[in-house]
Amino acid sequence: MKQTGVVILGATGSIGRNTARVLECHPDRFRVVGLVARCNTEELARQAMLFRPRLTVTTDPERLPELRAALPPGLETATGAESVLELVTAPETDMVLCAIVGTGGLAPVLAALRAGKRVALASKEVLVMAGEIVQRELDTSPGGSLIPVDSEHSALFQCLAGRNPDELRTLWLTASGGPFRDWSSEQIAAATLEDALAHPTWAMGPKVTIDSASLMNKALELVEAHYLFRVPPERLKVLIHPQSLVHSMIELNDGSFIAQMSKPDMRFAIQYALTYPERSAAGKLPELDFSAGLDFDFRLPDRRKFPSLDFADEAMRRGGTLPAVMNAANEVAVEKFRRGEIGFSRIWSIIEQTMAAHEVEPQRDLETIHAADREARVFARELR
Ligand code: MG
Repeated sequence: MKQTGVVILGATGSIGRNTARVLECHPDRFRVVGLVARCNTEELARQAMLFRPRLTVTTDPERLPELRAALPPGLETATGAESVLELVTAPETDMVLCAIVGTGGLAPVLAALRAGKRVALASKEVLVMAGEIVQRELDTSPGGSLIPVDSEHSALFQCLAGRNPDELRTLWLTASGGPFRDWSSEQIAAATLEDALAHPTWAMGPKVTIDSASLMNKALELVEAHYLFRVPPERLKVLIHPQSLVHSMIELNDGSFIAQMSKPDMRFAIQYALTYPERSAAGKLPELDFSAGLDFDFRLPDRRKFPSLDFADEAMRRGGTLPAVMNAANEVAVEKFRRGEIGFSRIWSIIEQTMAAHEVEPQRDLETIHAADREARVFARELR
């Protein structure tokens, strides 16, 4: 079997490190063509020595000497956006896994799609900010395809496989509900950073963990699902499922539900995106243990306590630059909360005020989106 050439963007983050673990279990199936990361030189060098890619890239030029010094001769290093674009469009690259946090994934994902590559997408920002542009790229570039790596979207993708879209009633995204699920509004308003970082089921980076506590993570995922599956907002719903075993489900027009479940471990979604349409037993993924009994709870979210889902509805309905603005305002607000400048509930009002002040424009090109993003950040930063 021909090895699949893979480029990993964001190799040292939580998704990137889990991807490395999956790839390690499939040495014959995949060849790592390139590794890209920004700051964790030590982990980047570790992976480079393990996989021996053609090129190892740090996007921070100041870290290049450090990376170079950490690698033996014969392992090429580089920095800069150009080397990333070269890697994702290279002939030996079959697939690009994008797990870059923030806006850095936009240009390489679009370039990879245009070059006809399969993109395994973990970066929420790509579809949230530029969903309409990504859709246009997918419609016009032959061969390019997008496979979700977010656990909810991977679940929906698996449930939808080969199904007639006319038979679909609703996509149900599950959410753990985060640590504040059963807290009162007063308790949430007084929550500390430590409280927000105590996620009950998933081990993730700090930004995503805070987004889970505010349900902004689910808001971003609704927008992502809207653009990825081309489903209108009224067919997208959220269900709180504290055990995080059912990763999402679809409801069909006869009232039947189809769900995907597994232990909450990102390697399931990562491995499926890498091996799709096949499955692999080689990943040694954790098994569900029913011996002590397993409980499954489902309930609707409390939208008065968690206004994030309403922001997502508005962002989807109005489209254009508004989802990017929602995302930018959230990032600024989360930063302020992490620095102790604002209380937890202020995250929501900062997003609400920033979205209300924005004049929505169509997604003409990446520059329109970047401009809206910058403008929203300046506006949100000024808010106290
Ligand atoms: Mg998710």
